[in-house]
Amino acid sequence: MILSEKAEKIQPSITLAITAKAKKMKSEGIDVIGFGAGEPDFNTPENIQQAAVSAMKEGYTKYTPASGIAELKKAIMKKFKKDNDLKYDENQIIISTGAKQCLTNVFAATLNSGDEVIIAVPYWVSYPELVKLSDGIPVFIDTKKENDFKYTVEDLKAAYSEKTKMIIINNPNNPTGTIYSKEELEKIADFAREKDILILSDEIYEKLIYDEMKHVSIAGLSEDAYKRTIVINGVSKTYAMTGWRIGYAAADKDIIKLMSNIQSHTTGNPNSIAQYASVAAIDGEESQIEEMVREFKRRRDYMVDKISKIPGVSYLNPKGAFYVMLNISETFGKNIDGVTIDDSLSFSEQLLEKEKVAVVPGLGFGIDGYVRLSYATSMENIKEGLDRIERFILNLK
Ligand code: PMP
Ligand code: GLU
Repeated sequence: MILSEKAEKIQPSITLAITAKAKKMKSEGIDVIGFGAGEPDFNTPENIQQAAVSAMKEGYTKYTPASGIAELKKAIMKKFKKDNDLKYDENQIIISTGAKQCLTNVFAATLNSGDEVIIAVPYWVSYPELVKLSDGIPVFIDTKKENDFKYTVEDLKAAYSEKTKMIIINNPNNPTGTIYSKEELEKIADFAREKDILILSDEIYEKLIYDEMKHVSIAGLSEDAYKRTIVINGVSKTYAMTGWRIGYAAADKDIIKLMSNIQSHTTGNPNSIAQYASVAAIDGEESQIEEMVREFKRRRDYMVDKISKIPGVSYLNPKGAFYVMLNISETFGKNIDGVTIDDSLSFSEQLLEKEKVAVVPGLGFGIDGYVRLSYATSMENIKEGLDRIERFILNLK
């Protein structure tokens, strides 16, 4: 039988696949170190758990409005005002089953067949696949390490065509940890205005920033940028709530209306209990986040220091999120037990087989020559995992 040709072309999420594989190996008693997971290793803070328990006890276990409960929308509106000086009304907000569903809704609500969406490489794995699911065409910009893996307006001009409908900006970035400055964002916003295209700004790592960097939302730069930007955010990373599946988007009310209509058929409301828990998260104390950020920074500092001492590899110091891109291109052509490392996939496979360390091959992010290491894992794991990576590299002939 011929199944959907479109679906046949969609690759599974490699980040989730590697995370699942490492977890499975662990459950089988294999001493595996997982650098794959893009999820905080901390448990969800106690007050958020309590809010979920109360919600259940008070009977908030029924359908809610499809686009989310008013209490959570209000907390999100307050957050946008406080953190980003952005003023949204309730009809400009949608709450979904993770930022992933928000993204799926955005593309479904804005793209027509053949519309092009500009994406920077390396990209987070799901963007191209989600664009394709909505009959859009991903158009890639190869960014350079020398430019901190950021695209410039010149890059955007080269990628632009009459069919360009949207540019994606992921700030802070997964997988590189790069952060765009206000001046860079202003130039991008001017370009979008000139060409009259939409901006999708995925800001899910907004609060995971180090070295006194400041997050700037492109939507806040001008009235025009505000109108053409769809901001994506969520509770997964900031509050260690990946499993609760709550993400949100803010945009022009006409876009949010279409997204809500779509969601009302695909899933209906996101989980009611998780929505009440998210009110406690977003309205809660910032100190919990600060503690996590301090710990992530400590781990990042250890990681980059250790990597700098391993011969034959290099990295870009990440300024946000919780990933390091490790440049392993110098290992290509070398052998281990008769197997040649010829790309980031074979490097990752051999590393898992020989040293039981799981990393994500750069190929999953559209770039070979790199693997991604997540430091959302304990310091103990980081130390042991990096020692193993060092041994692996030293054993290559
Ligand atoms: N955007 C980026 C850049 C991410 O890394 C993730 C992590 N999964 C998401 C969106 C989706 O997050 P979630 O669906 O858990 O809200
Ligand atoms: N975003 C995380 C990552 O990049 C979680 C996995 C996923 O959602 O694909 O690892």
